[in-house]
Amino acid sequence: MDKACHITVTGLVQGVGFRPFVYRIAVKHNLSGWVRNTNECVELFVQGPQQSIEDFLDELRSDPPVASNISQVIPVYTEPTDVQGFRITRSENTSDKITEISPDIAVCNDCLDDMQIQPNRVNYPFVNCTNCGPRFTIINDLPYDRKNTSMKVFPMCDSCRREYEDVQDRRFHAQPVACSVCGPHYTLYTRSGKVEGTEKILATLSECLLKGGIMAIKGLGGYHLACDATNEDAVTRLRYLKNREGKPLAVMFRDLATLRQYAEVSEAEERSLLSWKRPIVLLLAKRQKILAPGVSIGLNTIGTMLPYLPFHHLLFQVLKLPAIVLTSGNISDEPILIDDRKAMDTFLLKTEGVLAYNREIENRTDDSVVRVINDVERVFRRSRGFAPTPVVLKQDTGGILATGAELVNTFCIGKGRNAILSQYIGVLQNAETISFYEETLNKYQKLFRMTPEIIAADLHPDYFTSRFAEKRTGSMKLVRVQHHHAHIASCMAEHGLDEPVLGVAMDGTGYGTDGNTWGAEFLFCDLADFNRDTHFEYVPLPGSDRGIEEPWRMAVSYLFKIFGEELVHLEIPFLKKIEQEKIDFILKMIRSGINCPPVSSAGRLFDAVSAILDLCLYSTFSSEAPMRLESIIEPGCSERYSYFVGETVNFELTFRGILADIKQHTYPGIISAKFHNTVISVISEVIYKMKIRHNCNKVVLSGGTFQNKYLQEGTEKMLTGSGFEVYSHHLVPTNDGGISLGQLAIVAKRMEMAK
Ligand code: ZN
Ligand code: ZN
Ligand code: FE
Repeated sequence: MDKACHITVTGLVQGVGFRPFVYRIAVKHNLSGWVRNTNECVELFVQGPQQSIEDFLDELRSDPPVASNISQVIPVYTEPTDVQGFRITRSENTSDKITEISPDIAVCNDCLDDMQIQPNRVNYPFVNCTNCGPRFTIINDLPYDRKNTSMKVFPMCDSCRREYEDVQDRRFHAQPVACSVCGPHYTLYTRSGKVEGTEKILATLSECLLKGGIMAIKGLGGYHLACDATNEDAVTRLRYLKNREGKPLAVMFRDLATLRQYAEVSEAEERSLLSWKRPIVLLLAKRQKILAPGVSIGLNTIGTMLPYLPFHHLLFQVLKLPAIVLTSGNISDEPILIDDRKAMDTFLLKTEGVLAYNREIENRTDDSVVRVINDVERVFRRSRGFAPTPVVLKQDTGGILATGAELVNTFCIGKGRNAILSQYIGVLQNAETISFYEETLNKYQKLFRMTPEIIAADLHPDYFTSRFAEKRTGSMKLVRVQHHHAHIASCMAEHGLDEPVLGVAMDGTGYGTDGNTWGAEFLFCDLADFNRDTHFEYVPLPGSDRGIEEPWRMAVSYLFKIFGEELVHLEIPFLKKIEQEKIDFILKMIRSGINCPPVSSAGRLFDAVSAILDLCLYSTFSSEAPMRLESIIEPGCSERYSYFVGETVNFELTFRGILADIKQHTYPGIISAKFHNTVISVISEVIYKMKIRHNCNKVVLSGGTFQNKYLQEGTEKMLTGSGFEVYSHHLVPTNDGGISLGQLAIVAKRMEMAK
């Protein structure tokens, strides 16, 4: 007697080869029925012997396509019908609920093989299939069908259509299916004219890069700038072109074996490098073999990635270099360029050429950045390969728009229980990034059929997002969320925590409820609210933003707090590098309290120590001073300095210890290690006291300072070792890129409580 079962599958199940997979396993288990996409899920019906249906369900759950991510499989047994055979039926546009949109997927090995042998795809750089290729970057509406992508202007040739329509084919319903006959193609523009044809383009491009030239290359989510990563002159020129003094540049290696010559790669790091998301992975550089020093000026890490586009693979077949710099094609803090015309205007005269292709980029995405800490991948910049995959919350999030923070901004919209984070937008301090923000927000509302009803913003009165939220409110309700509460809530949301926790926010700066600048906060909190148990002691930040750009000011501020006027007699090398008038000026500011807001920030503490060790007096990019301090840590040192935990945390003894070590010419790597160990010790001492006070054993770590691998690893190990349950960021950035998720989770919780 046959049984019949109606099944809905939700999660990331469209555009990832899910229906052909269902078809194959249904046929394998001799089931009849059908499968189709709807806006909200994949829906299927199977009929056959009970055991076959059970086996089918097991396989569906246990072995889905690599890029899919099932959230739920709901089988409902029902009456058998007269259905014959198994069919894939048309997409249904059934409601305003939506399914997830797949991120872009690195080219698969089958497609790389096709690029060698399939006559219409030999060396064809837009090859793709249901298991790989562009997705989010080409989508402009749902459901995910070719007509709703930027492939719509390329009618399929007969050969592609046959593959597209053949359920047995790897390209069955692969929306971006294309070949050299019908699909998009590259054109290289140089000052001496156009170059067409893949072979000619590759030859010209390689020759140019070999000679030290710079090329702008259109990638999946925007333009890149490329040059030989072993050529210091080329790297310097590229830096100058980008207006980027010190920030490390990402490097694409030809393959994993080559990469291993330049960087240490653990098993977990290898998994990240090779994953279909193909992020930039921050790795420890080897000292024996190095790239051009200008790639990651003076830091001990390199941002590395492996080829992910068919074009990258073709390029490295011709180009005999170990690695190329492949960095976002933008000028300083502006968004990565996606528009061909704009790329020409910006880059044609400044580079050796602009390599474009004739398909539009619908959604701008940068390369994502991850770092493996304690064997777990942590996402620092969440864009290509990750966005717009949602985080599933326990609360209803419908109608909430969380506007995010000012730096490394993302926003987040709520739909059902999904918190959908935007891709990395950037620093909202220039007109281009602000319009990127506004455009992307409009796109998300359209794509995900979402109209905001309640809007969340940071407490900071001067953030762009705060002003934007105020302007947008109208009939909407505006909710202000404290920055560090949002940091902790973001990490809680990621781990599905909805209960009181001990929150540790180690951060740069955020606006506090007392109007001061916060950034090293110990919160006893839940999703709805928080209590600030303690924090690092306030220290004046001379010159506000200037004080952040010039870490030496923070060093002077800490020293003045401890030594007062005696400061000028201290024999510390870094002080001799700053002109006396400048120091006098800062001291005057501090004494009179003018433009010296009190800060309790971990980032500023790290700045001060970095400056005192003369590692970074002037910062050329955000977090440079803490990164340089982390970079020199001498491994294997377990000593630390003293400190005092009272009402707040006081570091006077720490600074006195550092100065004594400097006087004794202690190796700076040891001083840095001892300082890091001190902060780890402070965290665990404060948390231990909070545990007793609140009878709570769950610790949540968040904030940008935890991008520091030594600090994150050490804190996790120390707390876990003392029996705490420790939660830190995995999927969402610990920096301000995660703030929007936290804002959304807080508002969702408060709404749930108000019901
Ligand atoms: Zn493929
Ligand atoms: Zn074709
Ligand atoms: Fe922050």
